[in-house]
Amino acid sequence: MSEKRVPFSLEQVNALAKNHPTPFYIYDEENLRGNIRRLNDAFSWCEGFRNYFAVKACPNPEIMSILKEEGAGIDCSSMTELILSEALGFKGEEIMFTSNDTPLEEFQKAVEMGAVINLDDISHIQSLDNINYQGDFACFRYNPGNLRGGNAIIGEPVEAKYGVPDHTIVEAYQLMKDRGAKRFGLHTMLISNELNEDYFVETAEMIFELVKRISDVLNIQFEFVNLGGGIGIPYRPEEEAMDVKSIGERTQALHKQFIVDQGLKPLTVYLECGRFISGPSGYLVSKVRHVTEKYKKYVGLDACMTNLMRPALYGAYHHITVLGKEQEARNETYDVTGSLCENNDKFAINRNLPKVRPGDILAIHDAGAHGHAMGFNYNGTLRSAEFLMRTDGRFEMIRRAETARDYFATLNFPGNKWSVF
Ligand SMILES: *Cc1c(COP(=O)(O)O)cnc(C)c1O
Repeated sequence: MSEKRVPFSLEQVNALAKNHPTPFYIYDEENLRGNIRRLNDAFSWCEGFRNYFAVKACPNPEIMSILKEEGAGIDCSSMTELILSEALGFKGEEIMFTSNDTPLEEFQKAVEMGAVINLDDISHIQSLDNINYQGDFACFRYNPGNLRGGNAIIGEPVEAKYGVPDHTIVEAYQLMKDRGAKRFGLHTMLISNELNEDYFVETAEMIFELVKRISDVLNIQFEFVNLGGGIGIPYRPEEEAMDVKSIGERTQALHKQFIVDQGLKPLTVYLECGRFISGPSGYLVSKVRHVTEKYKKYVGLDACMTNLMRPALYGAYHHITVLGKEQEARNETYDVTGSLCENNDKFAINRNLPKVRPGDILAIHDAGAHGHAMGFNYNGTLRSAEFLMRTDGRFEMIRRAETARDYFATLNFPGNKWSVF
């Protein structure tokens, strides 16, 4: 099994940890830029192509700004994500608003910002009426139901809460056309962390065919398709990175066959990848507190599932490197845990590692998507700092660690008897 590389050394982490105690996140700027560039390259055949970074993966302004520099748009699904994107200078159609169970004020905000609004349900047309939407855009999220299979994280489409079902998709566009829509887009998001490129390409084909079907019935012209996110990353060392070049080429061929050769106007293709862009760039760095032996051997870290909950939430695999021991044989087997009063507070179960000692520093890989972002404060744990490793090797703090004061801040308002904190 090949070792996954870590772009920083034990010495660098020790230097950082002198002033900033572990645990913390480190993001690798070079890797981040490389990922978005590869995706942009793969779809360079498509005029106007854009990946709308799904901001929920890593909502740090510094990360988002780097992606903006690389030409990414931003995909938001909540008020705070919209506010954050606005503050960073994302404008108009650089913002995709893909939301479900959406409150009116979020539609209102997204409309004010000129975002592309992706409607999750036919009933959302009423929401547009309620906010007196005068724009000429119509875009729906499509859910093919049992016309397609799903995958582990996102589930079977027929069980998914998202999107407009096949039997009302034409009606949805009809209603928007009647309402005066002139510009049309179509969105779907069926996969999550998918490593099989065929699944992605089949989704593209399905969407192109659907564009043809709706265009023919309603005599409308689509401007774009948004194929969503979901391109996977190799969390496990034996997995291969996705060949996005090939995905781009195969999408291009399908676009020619199902759109251009059918006499339809060429479409702009959009994606909404989050994980593929920021996932491999991020590491959770944590120090070993205790190594214990009960019925099994345990490595207890100073990080816990409140810093990275994917293993506990989905049983997700995150590779672990013991810094400075990269070359040592992995001939011990441990559960790697945090300190919460929850037995599923584990980063790894039965993981082969080199012999670990208290004080060792571990890098948990591929934590740059849905890592810090999914953090929470259970058991009074505090969220960690985030650092950006610049391309010249400098470390920049891009979010400080929470303190007890932050934790108590919501109690600390005038008139509250607890405002002593
Ligand atoms: C989460 C999400 C994405 C991004 O998914 P990744 O797996 O990070 O690529 C894109 N679109 C929508 C609507 C999402 O909810």
